[in-house]
Amino acid sequence: MKSPNGEQASQRTTPSRDSGSPPAEDRSGPPSAPPSASALSPVFSALLDAEGFRHAFFTRAGGVSRPPWDSLNVAAAATGDDASAVQENIRRCAEALGVPLPRLYILSQVHGTDAHILDGTEDREEVVKRLGDITASRTPGVACGVRSADCVPVLLADRQSGAVVAVHSGWRGTVANAAAAGVAVLRTLASSPSIVAAIGPHIEPCCFEVGDDVAASLASASDAGDDVVDRSRERAHVDLRRIVRAQLMAAGVEPTRIDDVRGCTVCDRERYFSYRRDAAKSGRLLSAIVARA
Ligand SMILES: [Zn+2]
Repeated sequence: MKSPNGEQASQRTTPSRDSGSPPAEDRSGPPSAPPSASALSPVFSALLDAEGFRHAFFTRAGGVSRPPWDSLNVAAAATGDDASAVQENIRRCAEALGVPLPRLYILSQVHGTDAHILDGTEDREEVVKRLGDITASRTPGVACGVRSADCVPVLLADRQSGAVVAVHSGWRGTVANAAAAGVAVLRTLASSPSIVAAIGPHIEPCCFEVGDDVAASLASASDAGDDVVDRSRERAHVDLRRIVRAQLMAAGVEPTRIDDVRGCTVCDRERYFSYRRDAAKSGRLLSAIVARA
């Protein structure tokens, strides 16, 4: 157990969540104020809150990893961070989600669309070795997670059955339409789902500069077409959120039931890890949602 600063008592605090309120980042004081170094500071979807789904888009705050992975880094093998620190970080996330650590599942992500449906009986240490980018469950109390550092985390839930899905959609996953794959998995878990979705913080168009080939691939990834590419600057900049939203809508999710939990991982150094910004020195963020009854 690591306790670098002796402030564990305050680290157990989870921000209050009022149904229908804006995400936590909108009510935590001045926008420029960095989150406390000692407390978890996740951001939430008001839509998922309103439907009674425990979930979180965790920020980098509230963990025990040392620089440059300070502090809530949830990937050891990919970063070189201390494995025991990462384990403690994930344990804190599980606690904040209200689930035991063995019920918080993540995968070895490969920028694809393979899904793993989990019922809580699986060994999480075995599951984390599985290759895939989508976790899903309809078993109450099972938490489905994805890790990211600029890629788009998408949390899906069915209001009827309580089933949930977490999707990791980087630019390759977005080209492969991982969001629609996530919706498809949810439909296998629920006969007539009423889906709510939240698109989490990621590399926004202000910073997502790409080459022409990537821009062309992303322009053909959704009904939004070429409108997602901003060519007013020297190089193309792409709006991943707009693509993922269009993909979710095309997959049958009502536009009013798709929440935008905003934040640019590159711009907001205090709050987020970013591979684009920090490369090999970047940690990974966790986004997760818990199935309910
Ligand atoms: Zn930005």
